[in-house]
Amino acid sequence: MAFKLTYATMFNPPEELHKGFDKAVANLKQNLGREWSMIIDNQDVFADEKWEDRSPVNTDWVLAVMQKGNALHASQAIAAARKAFPKWSHTPWQERVKLVRKAAALLEKRILETGAAMSLEVGKNRMESLGDVQESADLMYFSALMMEQNNGFIKPMGKDPLVGYDATNVSVLRPYGVWLVVSPFNFPFALTAGPTGAALVAGNTVIIKPATDTSWVVRLYAEVFRDAGFPDGVVNFVTGPGSTLGQALVDSPEVDGATFTGSFDVGMKMYRDFANRNYVRPIVLELGGKNPAIVSRNANLADAATGIVRSAFGLQGQKCSAASRVIVEEPVYDELLGRLKDMTEKLTIGDPTERATFLGPVINKNSYNDFKNFTEEINQGGGHFLTGGHVKTGGMFDKGYYCEPTFVTDLPFEHRLWQYEMFLPITTIGKVSNLDEAMKIANNVNYGLTAGFYGSLKETDWFFDKIEAGVTYANRPQGATTGAWPGFQPFGGWKGSGASGKNGGGYYYVQLYMHEQIRTLIKPVKASPNGKKAAVKKTAKKVAPKKKAARRR
Ligand code: NAP
Ligand code: MG
Repeated sequence: MAFKLTYATMFNPPEELHKGFDKAVANLKQNLGREWSMIIDNQDVFADEKWEDRSPVNTDWVLAVMQKGNALHASQAIAAARKAFPKWSHTPWQERVKLVRKAAALLEKRILETGAAMSLEVGKNRMESLGDVQESADLMYFSALMMEQNNGFIKPMGKDPLVGYDATNVSVLRPYGVWLVVSPFNFPFALTAGPTGAALVAGNTVIIKPATDTSWVVRLYAEVFRDAGFPDGVVNFVTGPGSTLGQALVDSPEVDGATFTGSFDVGMKMYRDFANRNYVRPIVLELGGKNPAIVSRNANLADAATGIVRSAFGLQGQKCSAASRVIVEEPVYDELLGRLKDMTEKLTIGDPTERATFLGPVINKNSYNDFKNFTEEINQGGGHFLTGGHVKTGGMFDKGYYCEPTFVTDLPFEHRLWQYEMFLPITTIGKVSNLDEAMKIANNVNYGLTAGFYGSLKETDWFFDKIEAGVTYANRPQGATTGAWPGFQPFGGWKGSGASGKNGGGYYYVQLYMHEQIRTLIKPVKASPNGKKAAVKKTAKKVAPKKKAARRR
């Protein structure tokens, strides 16, 4: 079987992939520090102010010079997207699907160079970086497939039982207009591509605003749309601070819908600000997580330890889906801890582009300082470090933001850090006397994104039923709480982790980017000489309702 990269298969990639990646990193390093434009209306747009985008791997490395866009650029992008909307929304959905697939295919072609750039800019290890690129293409393919499987969401409804009239009722999902996509730093491609792909196949035009920390790599993403031949203004890309440029986009009444993926606090603010118009606009929110892994006394502890370590420390714990809490039944507590400690001590920290590295640096100085503050707070709060607890220093570590993978024990469940999303390689472990107690603690958070369980088959039913989370896994060594893949594990959260209740990369997602219009057309029925409804039959035969609707659009 040919190798298919997913977050579950990435632990055993073929040798050529490693070689290709090494080459891509070497090439890229020859070309660092270039200036990159914004893209508005398919034109390169430059701002007066710029900033140097440095790598968290080594802050001496200037990866790119980026544009510090402002409110003016926000309105330019909105104007371009608005101008492009009528034509794009009336482009047959089959054409839109074709173009989105073309962009996704281009992305796949560029997986090595963009994966290498991502590793340098985010600090993700190589397989996670490549996974992010592949996931992005797959998210776009999946939205395209959903349009196709649903016939562009043009669906005939029942006929009302009228006497003397023929009724044709057709439900059509139609795009909203200009769609804003605000993405976070940690999955800069996938969390831009998921919403962008869905918005585009649905017929919206798009404005992308990436996280400041990952603006360069998302610039490489945005380029595929221009290269794929998207018409002017359909996809626009602006860079600059969320607090100014981002806020200007959110505050504009000319934006018709938005998808925000990021932290709870910023997302909730955006939700409230976005309500500031004369009517309610759709906003898809994908927010934080505080994801539990519950380990029963009946668990396979080898699988549990493997899955927990991967999910706690993959991408340095900076995944919305990271296993940040481990809740263990007392009889297996000591043995599980022993395994977690052994495995964690074997993890390699360093330059994430290197093959052996599991943990790269955290994203920036703020996160690095947060790590120091949280570990201090844990110390004060009675917690002990089973592993880690410190930042890494000396040699190359002094050039970047490296933190040790840290498991914490003995921190009382009442401590605030059992509820607060730290977004770092810090995971708290607690002991309980039974599974009901574990579930109570697991659900006692504002979030409900992902959750993992290790136990007997019978217990897994109980887990799926009781846990309050949108993405749930049982007995999975590939990752206790992480590693969802479009088409396999649609991704989205409950409670404070997400607002739409529908998961990306699943059956109900692309519909969020369209509003329904029901089209009822009534025709009087002329009685024919022999008393049959001749006129109706004729019309009905000539054009099937589906096609009729398509033509009218
Ligand atoms: P963040 O700080 O909330 O930023 C997210 C995005 O919002 C960035 O592009 C940011 O731009 C922008 N932004 C900030 N203030 C804004 C404003 N006033 N108006 C408009 N946009 C604004 O999140 P992050 O640190 O990048 O990412 C980590 C968070 O994302 C975690 O909480 C994680 O759990 C969550 N996350 C959730 C999911 C999910 O699917 N549920 C997936 C991944 C991550 P700047 O960078 O310029 O400030
Ligand atoms: Mg940076």
